[in-house]
Amino acid sequence: MPRRGILPNGRVWTQWREQAVDVTIELDIPTRKQSIEAHKTNGGRIAAVFPIHYPRALFRAHRLLPVEVWGPPSADVTLGDAHLQSYTCSIVRNGLAYAIAGGLDAADLFVVPHCCDSLQGLGSLLIDFIHCRQPTFPLYLPRDHRSIDVEFFAQEIKSLSEKLAGVSGCHPSDTEVAAAIEQEQLAVVITQTLVKQRESIPQSDRAFHTLLRSREYLPAEHYTALAQTVLDAPPAAESRWGIPLILAGVVPEPMSLFDVLEGMGARVVGDDFLSTERRCYPASASDDPWRNMAESILNGPPDSTRGSTFEARLSHLRTLAQTRSAAGVIFYQIKFCEPEQFYYPMLKQGLEAIGIPSILLEVELGEPLGGQVVTRLEAFVEQLS
Ligand code: SF4
Repeated sequence: MPRRGILPNGRVWTQWREQAVDVTIELDIPTRKQSIEAHKTNGGRIAAVFPIHYPRALFRAHRLLPVEVWGPPSADVTLGDAHLQSYTCSIVRNGLAYAIAGGLDAADLFVVPHCCDSLQGLGSLLIDFIHCRQPTFPLYLPRDHRSIDVEFFAQEIKSLSEKLAGVSGCHPSDTEVAAAIEQEQLAVVITQTLVKQRESIPQSDRAFHTLLRSREYLPAEHYTALAQTVLDAPPAAESRWGIPLILAGVVPEPMSLFDVLEGMGARVVGDDFLSTERRCYPASASDDPWRNMAESILNGPPDSTRGSTFEARLSHLRTLAQTRSAAGVIFYQIKFCEPEQFYYPMLKQGLEAIGIPSILLEVELGEPLGGQVVTRLEAFVEQLS
């Protein structure tokens, strides 16, 4: 028999199954290391790209594989401490420590998009103070998406292309860049399809998000093929069960978060993570490939690091929660992440105004989920049951 309850916002919640969904599609997802080795074996070069926004198609046009560096959890953070204030987030702290320890030695260059003050500081450190073998290229993002911002960013991407050419030896024509955009857009479209069809995909939340996150380092074709395998599989015979939740924040680390939530009887029906759904950029219609890449990123889902308005972020989160019938939102933030913290009070208030409860959790990369975090999660999920 299904279990029913009334959510704080008045909606009726139905829990259909007493058992978690089994992972029925076995995917052979390569690790970051395997992906890098495969690309290098084929004579390719690697770009270590720090978060968050950058034009993947440009790297493809230069035959570079962008491998993202989301503050590797295994980094020895003490190595970067001498260069950073104690209130720097662990994405930057771990990323810097990892670079100093030689963890990024396989890369031929570093790219640091200036998406927040901490990343801007990291870019300066890598360029001026820490002398790594690889060159570091910054990428400046405008904080709005007016025509003048698009123009500025298109020029900025062109300038990055010239710097990349110094390492890749490629000087892609407009036609080659346009072809690269088309290829990369296929991966965005398939991610959007996965997200849309989530409820009929018989993967655990952890397996599903592991697939989404493989986009951080796999070539678009490889990722698309894996995603297609999942989409081609027969849909789940039964509805997924569990309290439906949205996760919002920077990155779902540690991934055991999904196991913990599943164990509590919750399921993730959508995310507003910087690492995943917030980077599902819409296709641009511009014929100019440079404007096209710029426009696509700047018109992405509302984002704290791109300076979106409170109203835009709130409206996006409300729509996300309502269309996916979420019972609540978990703001899963990295400690000392100023851009995300700045928006939180108003987002919480705005969600509560329409009956959607939320909770704020702060974590550090590299640390297991603490008992306090788990207890608070438990209390939140219990409150929604
Ligand atoms: S966690 Fe926040 S502060 Fe740190 S790099 Fe990401 S956006 Fe910037």
